Amino acid sequence: MSRTTFRNGTVLTAAGPVTADVEVAAGTIVAIGKAGSGGDEVREIDCGGLWVGPGFVDIHTHLREPGHEYKEDTESASRVAAAGGYTSVVAMPNTDPVIDSGHLVRYTIERGREVGLVEVASAGCVTAGRAGEKLAHLDDLWAAGVRLFTDDGDVVADAGLLRRAMDYLAQLGGVLAQHAIDPGLARGGHMHEGPVASGLGMYAIPSAAETVVVARDIELVRLTGCNYHVQHISAAPTVELVAAAKREGLPVTAEVTPHHLAFTDGDVQATDPAFKMMPPLRSAADRAALVAGLQSGVIDAVATDHAPHADHEKDVPFEHAPNGVIGLEWAAAVVNDRVGLDPVRFFEAMSVKPAAIARIANQGHWLATGAPANITAFDPKGVTDVRQSRSKSRNAPYFGRRYAGAVKYTMYAGAMTHEESGVLV
Ligand SMILES: [Zn+2]
Repeated sequence: MSRTTFRNGTVLTAAGPVTADVEVAAGTIVAIGKAGSGGDEVREIDCGGLWVGPGFVDIHTHLREPGHEYKEDTESASRVAAAGGYTSVVAMPNTDPVIDSGHLVRYTIERGREVGLVEVASAGCVTAGRAGEKLAHLDDLWAAGVRLFTDDGDVVADAGLLRRAMDYLAQLGGVLAQHAIDPGLARGGHMHEGPVASGLGMYAIPSAAETVVVARDIELVRLTGCNYHVQHISAAPTVELVAAAKREGLPVTAEVTPHHLAFTDGDVQATDPAFKMMPPLRSAADRAALVAGLQSGVIDAVATDHAPHADHEKDVPFEHAPNGVIGLEWAAAVVNDRVGLDPVRFFEAMSVKPAAIARIANQGHWLATGAPANITAFDPKGVTDVRQSRSKSRNAPYFGRRYAGAVKYTMYAGAMTHEESGVLV
């Protein structure tokens, strides 16, 4: 039987970080402590200086399968995810067809299993056809394994419909995840409303487009008791709303993307479509609030919103370009570089909290004997030099930049899926 020992790393356990060896056999962590010399059957990996913790979990990935495989597919996205230290991703349901029924959930999960590089979970639509008019078959989606329900790409705008969804999900124990952007306030806008947009003469989207939705939705959480998750939070006032909801004891969580932690609307000055996404990059003060929110835990998790688009779609004038950027490969380095979390909060934000929000049973566990061997070894002093991507798409603002921190090893279900030299198959 093949065994692996991660030697001498800073190991993230439930009791905190300890310097130890982590022994893995048959897909499970069999010991944490001081390993003996392993003999011929053991692969030993020197993890001196590395943080060795639970594999990262991305609760906001656009696999683009089915329907848009020219942008990305389950196989390419899985390679990208493994290279980024991820052992699980949650697929967003705005595919073609949209994931609003159990059989498409099962298809998505099964494709992930076939590829076998990460655990693929699937979100499901809140509304049928993602059309915002009537509820999807939430019980059918639940039975197929969906725990996170979202019309991502669009907000669930109708408060009555949302209330019914929340009533139902509160009974099931599911999570309503909201792409919180008011369509009226966002209409026609391409970037954050502020001095930069004024200078460029560009139609813009105020922070209030996000804040009014979250404020309304929190009222509905009070009414229904439903678990509620703010996707890709972008504005300082929204961080305040989430903080207040948490102080009140409401079941409200939030995620932030690496790009909102790394950039501001000032970076849109050159109108490069690699900086166009929804919600838009906001002001420096908003970015500072997101960084502080992630540090304090008001913002629970990092989620990539990995959203591939082909060159012919994205390499057009800014106003005509689709929203979205890729980021699974570099998320950990960007977060380490731009936020500077201690190892406990880092693995909480990258793994433990997202797995808990999306209720992925085998992921996000502090390392312990008997836990599934989903492990990422991260070098906080390494360098990630962004020059190329394993994605089918290249739409990202990170190219040509260097970030402090590097994913050295990713192990999924006991098998090494990434080493710094490249993705293993
Ligand atoms: Zn979204």
